[in-house]
Amino acid sequence: MKTRKLGATGVSVHTIGQGTWMMESDDHYEVVRAIRRGIDLGMNHIDTAEIYGNGRVEQLLAKALAGRREEVFLTSKVSPANASFKGTIAACEGSLKRLGTDHLDLYLLHWPSSYPLHDTIRAFEKLVADGKVNFYGVSNFDASALRDAVDIAGSNKLACNQVLYHLQERTIEHEVLPACKKLNISLVAYSPFGAGSFPSSRSHGGCVLKKIADFHGCSARQVALAFLTRRRNMFAIPKASYLEHVEENAGGGLLELTAEDIQNIEEAFPLGPWQSGVPVL
Ligand code: NAP
Repeated sequence: MKTRKLGATGVSVHTIGQGTWMMESDDHYEVVRAIRRGIDLGMNHIDTAEIYGNGRVEQLLAKALAGRREEVFLTSKVSPANASFKGTIAACEGSLKRLGTDHLDLYLLHWPSSYPLHDTIRAFEKLVADGKVNFYGVSNFDASALRDAVDIAGSNKLACNQVLYHLQERTIEHEVLPACKKLNISLVAYSPFGAGSFPSSRSHGGCVLKKIADFHGCSARQVALAFLTRRRNMFAIPKASYLEHVEENAGGGLLELTAEDIQNIEEAFPLGPWQSGVPVL
């Protein structure tokens, strides 16, 4: 499993983490088993949010993390609707309570809010000063919003920008990824399997993935994860509720693609014309 430093935090996190969106609807027994197995396999970056299942996913995670909190790098997110100064503090306290922990490793603004970003960042700083949060960052920020956030927070304060990124949606490579690199902010790919629309093995792209996978003795999904984390500041957080899925995804963190593999994937899943902004689900 590859680990690398997340932004300027100095903390090493595995390139492949574990998402939790919509886990409230999955079999809770299987989910707990899957998350714990993922931790065994080194997938220590676990991502959740207060809005997932209206807090039920955070409660479910508390079960999965029982006795294992110190092994994971735990991320949650404040909803834009709560992102005032006081609202952010209260939202974080709610998340801590549901998660059964006294601190988060990383706290993100889920997407840009109508509350002044200055107030949200001031709240993040207070949460850090109070020991409730180790690091903070953003999600769904385009390059310009990211630069504004750095102007407010200062350099090397934002750990990551969590954005939609998968083989069929590479828009962030135009502006967001270069901005992250320049600002020393990690890029965390959410929905790395397209939130359930992974290329079929019958499609052209699927065949290209299979050929690469066969060559390396791995699976197409592992190839996809290795591609999405191919650069130094990239991470991915696939969601998997089943043991077999988690085990397969963990393998994506072991694979080294060749320059030729990367070129073949780029041709099969083209970036598309220049676009500004950030795509959302
Ligand atoms: P995803 O990770 O792209 O795909 C999840 C789907 O892939 C699930 O149906 C899962 O099935 C399936 N899957 C996973 N591993 C598999 C495997 N090895 N073989 C076959 N199927 C597999 O979708 P996502 O949940 O949208 O994104 C991942 C995480 O990113 C979320 O859970 C959440 O934590 C985060 N996220 C953040 C935002 C944001 O705005 N910041 C937005 C969306 C998502 P099973 O569950 O049945 O295993």
